[in-house]
Amino acid sequence: MSLLRDVRELLLPRLCPVCGRLLTGCEDVLCAFCAIGLPRYRIRNTNLDDNAWDNILLRSVWDRVNVRRGTTMLAYSHDSPFHRLIIALKFRGKRELAVKLGRWAAMEAQRLDFWQDVDALVPVPLTRWRQFRRGYNQAEMLARGMSEVTGLPVVNLLRRTKNRKPQSRMKGEARIRNAEGIYEADVPAEWRGKRLVLVDDVMTTGSTLANCALALQNVDSSAEICIFPLAYAGKI
Ligand SMILES: [Zn+2]
Repeated sequence: MSLLRDVRELLLPRLCPVCGRLLTGCEDVLCAFCAIGLPRYRIRNTNLDDNAWDNILLRSVWDRVNVRRGTTMLAYSHDSPFHRLIIALKFRGKRELAVKLGRWAAMEAQRLDFWQDVDALVPVPLTRWRQFRRGYNQAEMLARGMSEVTGLPVVNLLRRTKNRKPQSRMKGEARIRNAEGIYEADVPAEWRGKRLVLVDDVMTTGSTLANCALALQNVDSSAEICIFPLAYAGKI
């Protein structure tokens, strides 16, 4: 199945996932027009020690969990054509797109010294059934792209314990309740006391990332958690 999928990806013409334009040889992820128009989210202070009031990601979760560092690359909105980028990597089998976006995001974060003293990348998991249906976990593909740039290992320390309704169909409070207690961590001795970066595709309320961080810290209170969603979709 996966070989067939790889061959199909190679043979099909490469199209921009946002506007559908045919990509030229030098255009890698998006066409040049969409790459220029990509709605960026620029985080200036990535560390909790710096002026973290500027950092909406840390501010969104700091009443729930101790997170040291956070950054993102894109501003996500349902009514922007760029939401097709997220849809493509989530629902259309665009594994290679996720890896490329991970690479891109990791390179941007290098300029902010985000990777300093980081030990590993930890993808937010899907349910086993969802991963089976999709054939991959988009957060893990993003993390693999980040790993290619940083040389950091990707370690799956988390798992989803219950099947609940997909987050994308839920809003606000319901989304926060949905994420409670559905992640469990299994942290071998070699990964204890480490600085770990949680990787996900989109952060909205921060409940998923906060619950993943809590699951890790429940098992290893000395774990230092950083968060890196590809896109931020919450209120500013
Ligand atoms: Zn385009």
